[in-house]
Amino acid sequence: MRQVYLDYSATTPVKNKVLEEMLPYFSENFGNPSSLYQIGFKSKDAITLARSRVAQLIGAEDKEIYFTSSGTEADNWAVIGTAKALKPKGNHIITSKIEHHALLHTCEYLEKEGYQVTYLNVDKKGMVSLEELERAITDRTILISIMFANNEVGTIQPIKEIAKIAKKHGVLFHTDGVQALGNLPIDVKELNVDMMSISAHKIYGPKGVGALYIRKGLTIPNLIHGGGQENKKRAGTENVPGIVGFGKAASLADENLASHIEKVRTLRDYFISQITTRIEDVVVNGDMEHRLPGNANLIFKYIEGEALLLYMDTKGIFASTGSACSSATFSPSHVLSAMGLPLEQVYSSIRFTVGDFTTKEDIDYAVDEIVEMVEKLRAFSPYNKDNVMNSAQSCNCQA
Ligand SMILES: *Cc1c(COP(=O)(O)O)cnc(C)c1O
Repeated sequence: MRQVYLDYSATTPVKNKVLEEMLPYFSENFGNPSSLYQIGFKSKDAITLARSRVAQLIGAEDKEIYFTSSGTEADNWAVIGTAKALKPKGNHIITSKIEHHALLHTCEYLEKEGYQVTYLNVDKKGMVSLEELERAITDRTILISIMFANNEVGTIQPIKEIAKIAKKHGVLFHTDGVQALGNLPIDVKELNVDMMSISAHKIYGPKGVGALYIRKGLTIPNLIHGGGQENKKRAGTENVPGIVGFGKAASLADENLASHIEKVRTLRDYFISQITTRIEDVVVNGDMEHRLPGNANLIFKYIEGEALLLYMDTKGIFASTGSACSSATFSPSHVLSAMGLPLEQVYSSIRFTVGDFTTKEDIDYAVDEIVEMVEKLRAFSPYNKDNVMNSAQSCNCQA
């Protein structure tokens, strides 16, 4: 059976060129980068090259990139580090209701530690309001953390404007750039952000490696304590193959950025137009203009998204209801809820994300199957408007 992967926002396969560069660092080049002999130097040099490739992708200087174990760790470090460093100045953090759980749950942890957190609302399209943001700032505010692009609906926030407001009020600004990386041009200097989290496995690199960009001149306390790795800021023997893979993935993303964006946007738009012309009562969630090029988040009215997902899985089509974290728990999406969707529409929503290995044939297969499945599911659905009408009619008859 054909397999069609439409969940590139959850993770991506490692590209062959990335894997090839990583492999020697599992075997012959196994040296510890901190060792003072040749095979150690090889690992050290490989990390130096990877750091500069990752820096290049976001317009940073090499020494502003600190490798971590994940995007999640980078989020934790930025928020907890800032909170600790600036405790004497204040205890107030501003974020949004649609952040990734790596950010939201870190903020909830800090609330238990006595910090105050403002969770900004978003509008119907998933955008934060700059006015609401500015109004939320007090003289106790120490950090603003707003994600660059949302993982569920793909909404891209006005990062440059947010940074401007943060600067104006002397507040540090962190952004979770995990979804934006490799999908949008990013220049941290032009955007004027203080910190940005990124991750390798969303850009065709390996899982278990991420980085935090920390603007030079800014120091936050360490999250992980131990040896002197990462310029004494992040202890632990480096994940050398992972970091090498991140570097190669970053340089490929940099080289192919324009064609990648064009390709995935074209396929995404084709998918949406096919689905919405062939199936009635399908609505696109989020903003079509300020949106990640590969993201399509759709409401299939009158059916349960989970039912469609499971059905799709039997036909080899893989998508999700939103964040990978909530799919195991069946809890309604906090992002769609924050956008004001009624619960039944939240439960009817599915996220499809296309990527570099998606083909037009994949989309055609998926669309044909989905059209058929939606028809079948709607025929059974008690929420279907026709069914609702039928039952009302039969009620009337009996009355
Ligand atoms: C995937 C993701 C993360 C977490 O990154 P990991 O490397 O998987 O820990 C954080 N933020 C966003 C927006 C993501 O999409």
